Amino acid sequence: MNQLQQTLMLDILEKYSKKRDKIISIRPLSGGDINQAFKIETGEGFWFAKCNRADSFPAMFEAEAKGLDLLGSAAEILIPEVIGFGTHDNESMLVLEFIQPGRENADFWTNFGRNMARLHRHSSDEFGLDYDNYIGSLPQYNENRAEWIEFFIQNRLGPQIKMARDAFKIDSSDIKKFENLHPVLADFFPLEKPSLLHGDLWSGNYMSHSSGQACIMDPAVYYGHRLMDLGMTKLFGGFTNEFYTAYNDEYQLDKNWIDSIEIANIYPLMVHVNLFGGGYLGSVMRILKKFK
Ligand code: ADP
Repeated sequence: MNQLQQTLMLDILEKYSKKRDKIISIRPLSGGDINQAFKIETGEGFWFAKCNRADSFPAMFEAEAKGLDLLGSAAEILIPEVIGFGTHDNESMLVLEFIQPGRENADFWTNFGRNMARLHRHSSDEFGLDYDNYIGSLPQYNENRAEWIEFFIQNRLGPQIKMARDAFKIDSSDIKKFENLHPVLADFFPLEKPSLLHGDLWSGNYMSHSSGQACIMDPAVYYGHRLMDLGMTKLFGGFTNEFYTAYNDEYQLDKNWIDSIEIANIYPLMVHVNLFGGGYLGSVMRILKKFK
C-alpha cells in the first residue's frame, strides 16, 4: 500500500471513529480480480481495505458501499460493515470491517439458504435500483422497470450484447439468436415481485464468518428476479443441497426453477464473455440454440 493510500485509509478511519489511529500492520490479500485488497491492523482492530484507480471505475466503491448498506438494512444475513470510502488524487478506497474467517458450523448451509430466501422477500415497487453499479469491473445498469422481462432484456442482456458486438465477439446472426429468446422468457421467469438481490452470488463472494455463519460480500445489488441469485449459485457450483432445501422451505421456488436458471445465467455468462472471452461464448450459444 503506497503512502497516499495509507493516508486515505487513516482519513476514512478517522471520519468513522472520530479519532486518528496509527497503522500497526498492512498485509496484502489475494483473491480479488479487480482491486488490490489489504488487511490492516490499527490500535482499534482489523480492517479490510480495497483500492483502485478512481478514473478507471468511477463511483465503484460508493455503489458497493450503498449496496452493502442496503443488504445490511434488510438484516437477514451477515455482511461486512461499511466503515467508509473515499478518493484522493485518483486513488479510490473502500474500508470494511475485516471478516475473520471461521469454521462453518453444522447449520451453515441451512441458515445460509433460509437467510437468502428471507433477503429475497425484501421488495420494492419496481425492478432496478436508484443508481447504477458494477458487475465485476463492468457497468451494471439498474434503470427501474415495472416488468422483469423488460428489465432483463434492456438492462441485463442488452448492454452485454452491445459490448460484445462492439468488441467483435458476436455478429448480427448471434444477435438474432438472442432475439429468438425474447418471446419465451416469460415461460422461464414466473411473475413475482422484485427481490432484493446480492447480484453476484458465486462461491467466491461468501465466507464463513468466525461465528460459523455465512457472510456475503462484493455484491452487485439490485431489485430483480430471485432466479438471478439462484442462477449465480449454480454457475460455478459450491453450494450444497441443504442450501436449496432450506431456501425452498422458506420461500418456495417454481418446480421448474432449475431449467430457468440456465436462462438467468446467460447474463453472467455474457459478463464473462466480455471480461474474459474464451469458451464462455460457446456456453451461451449452446443455450440459445434451443430457442431457434
Ligand atoms: P474484488 O472486488 O476485487 O473481487 P473482493 O471484495 O472479492 O475483491 O475481495 C477479495 C478477497 O478478499 C475475497 O475473495 C475475500 O476472500 C476477501 N474479503 C473480501 N471482503 C473481506 C472482508 N470484509 N474481510 C475479510 N476478507 C474479505
